[in-house]
Amino acid sequence: MRIDILTLFPEMFHNVLGESIMKIAGEKELVNFNLHNIRDFSNDKHRCVDDKPYGGGAGMVMKPEPVFNAVEAVEAQDDVESTKILLTPQGETLNQEIADDLSKKARLMIICGHYEGFDERIRSGIDVREISIGDYVLTGGEIPAMVVIDSVVRLVPGVLGGDSSLQDESFVNKHLEYPQYTRPAEFRGMKVPEILTSGHHTKIEEWRTKEAITRTQERRPDLLEDKTK
Ligand code: SAM
Repeated sequence: MRIDILTLFPEMFHNVLGESIMKIAGEKELVNFNLHNIRDFSNDKHRCVDDKPYGGGAGMVMKPEPVFNAVEAVEAQDDVESTKILLTPQGETLNQEIADDLSKKARLMIICGHYEGFDERIRSGIDVREISIGDYVLTGGEIPAMVVIDSVVRLVPGVLGGDSSLQDESFVNKHLEYPQYTRPAEFRGMKVPEILTSGHHTKIEEWRTKEAITRTQERRPDLLEDKTK
């Protein structure tokens, strides 16, 4: 997978992409990360990327030219067509299903906003999928981009050592994960459920399924609702 990130703050990504699973994905050449500074695509001699909103109001708006220029120049760097993601609190809210869908794409281009957001013609003139990471407003699209990238990259086949671990995770089967324990078997009087140390794999699976459903009913009953009705 190739991921192009269009941002005004490329330096913000170095730590996140250079550590842990993202680093391994890059090293294994399963994902190729490319950072592009939108400012480099401004035709303005001051490399200006924002301007005052028509009609007045607070803050600055990201100008269309630098973003269109960046998207077109970066798209042309590879024969594979990209799925373009525009980060905005007004988009569809990211969930595991969207992350799973995006993980199957050969190329993603992620566009980070800043200031008061994008000139509307960026949204309407470029074929983008608008994604939000939740109902709150952040300063810029960089942290949302990192959230999208992390949720997607760990689903790319081969990135996580044992892909079977993905099957049990929260949201994958429309429920939350069962409780997990590790050593010691007893800590400050709190004991690991006996079934988990029994070595009886079928019974352990039954216990985990039951616990996952109980936990989901208690915390996120909405996940168990039949959405087809
Ligand atoms: N004025 C915009 C509005 O009310 O919809 C918010 C602009 S926000 C301060 C600046 C940029 O941060 C946005 O263009 C977007 O790229 C990013 N951003 C902020 N919150 C976000 C969220 N919840 N999800 C995705 N991106 C977000």
